[in-house]
Amino acid sequence: MDLADRLLGSTVKRTVVGNLEPDDISIRKPLKDPDAFIRTFCTGCGEYLEITKRGAEIEAQDHHFELPTDPSGYYLETSRCLYCDDDFSGTVLKKIE
Ligand SMILES: [Zn+2]
Repeated sequence: MDLADRLLGSTVKRTVVGNLEPDDISIRKPLKDPDAFIRTFCTGCGEYLEITKRGAEIEAQDHHFELPTDPSGYYLETSRCLYCDDDFSGTVLKKIE
């Protein structure tokens, strides 16, 4: 069961603050889930999520950007995520500076 499935059982949503920034340490951590392809950071609620390649491909298609072949050094920034809303929104590819 992946993280998205587990979250579907949760009805308590995180509060959206908005304009949050990822912290340097959390955004650089190696991915924990062996099925994960890339990390997301939500500027709305401040949560980090690891998503699969399929999930990342859907985001890339929906939001018109190309995924890097090697995703290390990148993350997806969203304005809403599964913690604070029903789905990701406003997804953009970001380079880890
Ligand atoms: Zn969120």
